[in-house]
Amino acid sequence: MPTKPIMITRTPRGTQPSDRTHAGDTTPLWQQALARAIRDPVTLARELELDPAHLPGLHAGHTLFRVRVPRSYLARMRKADPQDPLLLQVLPQQQESEEHPGFVADPVGDHDALAAPGLVHKYHGRVLLLTTGACAVHCRYCFRREFPYAEHNASQDDWAPAIAYIHADTSIREVILSGGDPLSLSDRRLADLVRRLEAIPHLERLRIHTRLPVVLPERVDEQLLSWLGKGRLHHVLVLHANHPREFADPAAPALARLQARGITLLNQAVLLAGINDDPDTLCELQEAGFRHGVLPYYLHLLDRTRGTAHFEVTEHRALELHQALHARLPGYLVPRLVREIPGEPGKTPRWAGL
Ligand SMILES: *Cc1c(COP(=O)(O)O)cnc(C)c1O
Ligand code: SF4
Repeated sequence: MPTKPIMITRTPRGTQPSDRTHAGDTTPLWQQALARAIRDPVTLARELELDPAHLPGLHAGHTLFRVRVPRSYLARMRKADPQDPLLLQVLPQQQESEEHPGFVADPVGDHDALAAPGLVHKYHGRVLLLTTGACAVHCRYCFRREFPYAEHNASQDDWAPAIAYIHADTSIREVILSGGDPLSLSDRRLADLVRRLEAIPHLERLRIHTRLPVVLPERVDEQLLSWLGKGRLHHVLVLHANHPREFADPAAPALARLQARGITLLNQAVLLAGINDDPDTLCELQEAGFRHGVLPYYLHLLDRTRGTAHFEVTEHRALELHQALHARLPGYLVPRLVREIPGEPGKTPRWAGL
């Protein structure tokens, strides 16, 4: 005889009210975690035991680009340290209101390269699909902080024109899901999109550019793993972490789950003043990534987006740092140092005359 139903419906002992969902509430836990992300600069300061009155630009910066920080990311920051390298990536600063020559709204020319709504075709053999404008975290240095998603993303439940374009161009081997952060879409929508891409015979690879497994590791759940790493296309995940501490718990077990699936894991970082512009931090970033199955991909020179000049590292210093990585790490742990230059056929490598 089957166990009486009462045995299954009883609330498990030790469950806290906050762990429970309402009857019939199927909102995934990661979406609940996202809903609890910090969206207010004063709360961000207070949670880290910082005095908002001592943080100039907190409100001005927030007005330009709204604060968003998941709690699991906040938990990896040091308290009472206004220079914490994770905090500096998300904390609004006074300098964001400054104008600097050459720092503009769309530094990478994405505007001019739209092949279909939400589809950027700039490089041979691969296209970038802007799936959503939403991110789990708002990074202050982001080159898309002023990108007009409302006009240009393909997320209005209509992938049709982008998919028709990819179908028609047999030179395209790889689709890159980007945004925003594509993993902020539901698994239902993503699985639907992936099915439609799998039906395009000349496609071989699906690449996903995402920061979610790092900043919101809750995202790597069974629903995600029910489609990710499966199917006809080879799946490549390009993560984005700039500091070794971003790979710490609770990101580490999420990366282990992805690795267990055989998904290729790469990391791209942005070289950021005051955050990772020293050889020790940059070396440890590559080492920490590799410990979790992540190989380095790109180290980006900052895109010159309005309001981000205070993050810039000079090209001279960047080349010195890159040389230090070559001197200290095995070749496979040295990321390619690149700058994105509008009109070029790919990211442009920078070499220190090695
Ligand atoms: C960065 C980027 C790509 C991917 O380039 P890879 O060198 O393959 O990583 C593709 N399309 C656009 C528009 C890009 O900005
Ligand atoms: S997660 Fe990526 S796209 Fe989103 S704000 Fe950060 S850098 Fe920009």
